[in-house]
Amino acid sequence: MSRFVDGIVASALDCGGEGGRGLVTGEPRQGRRRTWAQVHDEARRIAAALRDSVRPGAAVAVLAADPGLIAPAVQGGWLAGNSVTMLHQPTPRTDLARWAQDAVRVLGVVDAELVLLGSPFEPLADLLRAHGIRYRELAELAAHPEALDRPVPTAEDAAALLQLTSGSTADPKAVRITHGNLHANTAAMVTSARLDPVHDVAVSWLPLFHDMGLVGTLVVPMTIGMEAVQVTPTDFLTAPLLWPKLISKYGGTVTAAPNFAYAVTARRMAHAEDGAFDLSGLRFALNGAEPVDTGAVRAFTEAGARFGLAETAMVCAYGMAEATLAVSFAALNRPVRVDTVSADALERRRLADPADDGEEGGTRSFALLGRALPGMEIQVVDDAGTELGERQVGRLRIRGAAVTPGYLTADGPVAAQDAEGWLDTGDDGYLIDGEVVICGRRKDVIIMGGRNIYPVDIERAAGEVDGVRAGNAAAVRLDAGSRRERFAVVLESKTAGTLDDEKALRAAVASQVARAVGARPAAVVVVAPGDLPKTPSGKLKRAATAALVPD
Ligand code: ATP
Ligand code: MG
Repeated sequence: MSRFVDGIVASALDCGGEGGRGLVTGEPRQGRRRTWAQVHDEARRIAAALRDSVRPGAAVAVLAADPGLIAPAVQGGWLAGNSVTMLHQPTPRTDLARWAQDAVRVLGVVDAELVLLGSPFEPLADLLRAHGIRYRELAELAAHPEALDRPVPTAEDAAALLQLTSGSTADPKAVRITHGNLHANTAAMVTSARLDPVHDVAVSWLPLFHDMGLVGTLVVPMTIGMEAVQVTPTDFLTAPLLWPKLISKYGGTVTAAPNFAYAVTARRMAHAEDGAFDLSGLRFALNGAEPVDTGAVRAFTEAGARFGLAETAMVCAYGMAEATLAVSFAALNRPVRVDTVSADALERRRLADPADDGEEGGTRSFALLGRALPGMEIQVVDDAGTELGERQVGRLRIRGAAVTPGYLTADGPVAAQDAEGWLDTGDDGYLIDGEVVICGRRKDVIIMGGRNIYPVDIERAAGEVDGVRAGNAAAVRLDAGSRRERFAVVLESKTAGTLDDEKALRAAVASQVARAVGARPAAVVVVAPGDLPKTPSGKLKRAATAALVPD
């Protein structure tokens, strides 16, 4: 039987009655609050409808933006014994024809029988029908006259979630997350973050098609019956200060976001009036999914201090879809810890050597991302799979009960673990006293003149140039793997200037990168705002970006 589903049902029972803990959605327009017991009642109706319309154990997909619809939809799928896939949501900028093609591909890969369609995507119904995709509207399913009495018994190794990876390196992969994986990872997160359903309140705007949003900020509260406030990424992106506002209004203690969001919010908060927010209750602001920039950490901590934010609130973390979500959390109650190493040793000798004062050839600073969660192991190995020592840089691999058994692909299932249960994360990093540091993705490392250059160092240097849109520069490999490997910088400019302005910007970026990293880009390409390839969750897609560089 699924302990994961048992936990959800027990929490719902615990949250019944007036004033029971639950889910707040609909901010900042019309806030709507339902207890987890009410969400469960809708989920049981959806489950009854699913039992009548799809095969037992089949996959169903969910396409909705409204967290108030998504919560009962995913829970309903699990109660009915189905596995759930969250489709990537189109935005107003999305090319709908391409989006539909991608959706059709994904639905084929995961073999989904039905799409549960929710607001505001109802108008896409025609498009789905044109592709022969079966769908039902969520609002109608949630009002199904019957409710499922008891969850359909489901094995621990049955798929619960077919989680799409972000698609940073290639097309998103469907990761098969089992009920056992979800149980292991949610329990480990609850323990490590010391989540308390009575006192903690989660506030989030993260997309729920991504694992950090879905598992971290919705499923964890649902599993332990903890108050959760959910808005959409669009709500945040149109008004970033909504985030600290909601934390203040609802007494948020827990939140999560990628680094860029902390940087954006810090800039906005710096201009807010004294007393505009109360962040004194926020004790766990997870920073993960993307490289942590120690400058952004400092900016957010400083800007937040004026509103009572504790210096220890930010908690750096490492995670990925293949681990259900979380691999490591930094220890609680300490400021973000930073390791500063010699760039030369790191790049030429693959050694994270603590930097001396006035280090020749520069330094690199990384946030420590904490130790492996309970039940998770992390190792650093060389290309031959031999375990490396402290501060030696190599491939990170993980093992444990939360690690996926494998992927679903167009050619069928593919195992994700080796014979000993290890999963290669594709990330380069090192360990210090069991704490993990990520240097970058192996595939993205630029190998030039005997150096392993991490793109993020180039991107940060480019970002220092006035006129470059913050967070919108990508360093990409050219002629990867050849003896004459080079790199280019592709960036978005803040202003649509004249050709001369653009030329000056390109020159400034090339010099700044050369100064900071000691290597010159073969090209600097300026693209229009919004044209830098990103994943639906906002991560850089470096390989796809390389295609924008003219030969
Ligand atoms: P795809 O696998 O489709 O290329 P993706 O790897 O970005 O996309 P996710 O599973 O969403 O998909 O992201 C996991 C990856 O995000 C990790 O492998 C790592 O590269 C990166 N990541 C996560 N947390 C951090 C962090 N704290 N610092 C640096 N990188 C991180
Ligand atoms: Mg990945």
